[in-house]
Amino acid sequence: MFILLMGPPGAGKGTQAALLVEKYSIPHISTGDMFRAAVKEGTPLGLEAKRYMDAGGLVPDSVTIGIVKERLAKPDCQAGFILDGFPRTLEQAAALDKTLTELGIRLTRVVNITVPDDELVRRMTGRRICKGCGATYHVAFNPPAAADKCDKCGGEIFQRADDKEETVAKRLEVYQAQTQPLIGYYREKGLYTEIDGRQGIDEVLAAIETSLRGAGA
Ligand SMILES: [Zn+2]
Repeated sequence: MFILLMGPPGAGKGTQAALLVEKYSIPHISTGDMFRAAVKEGTPLGLEAKRYMDAGGLVPDSVTIGIVKERLAKPDCQAGFILDGFPRTLEQAAALDKTLTELGIRLTRVVNITVPDDELVRRMTGRRICKGCGATYHVAFNPPAAADKCDKCGGEIFQRADDKEETVAKRLEVYQAQTQPLIGYYREKGLYTEIDGRQGIDEVLAAIETSLRGAGA
């Protein structure tokens, strides 16, 4: 199963990735983790990426693609992977195609978990975090027993700046603009499946599995 997993922040992509990892015993490869690992291992590309990140700049495509390539060439990816957070641009998608061809790998499916923006805003702006222990809550779905106090440690509950409505709306706008061309790209290749992320966790997983089976893999 060579799965490319897409979805906006707040759509439950992380949850599904974890379930797929367990189900198929394949690694979950997210761009963030990959970067951290490459930096930690001190690979030449990792060190180069670190120089850009330390300077507060964007890591150029050539470096990002190199790191993805290093990661996908590792033995644990031979039976499959869940790639998450990459590609973000058409240039990266083309580079990924080239890399996969070189590795003799064909993508099984590109799965996009979608949720309407207004629902995503509701999910994300409701998130609260404990200052003391980092426990997470949601004002609607998982509120603490006492308002503004953590159930576990009594710490103060707060909203991350990232989760404020204006920031969330902006992030989603950037995400949608970035993703739209990729949807067209993979749809043309016949690899694209859209899953309704408003369903329950089990229903979303079942829909993903159906799409993977439909891919004949
Ligand atoms: Zn706490």
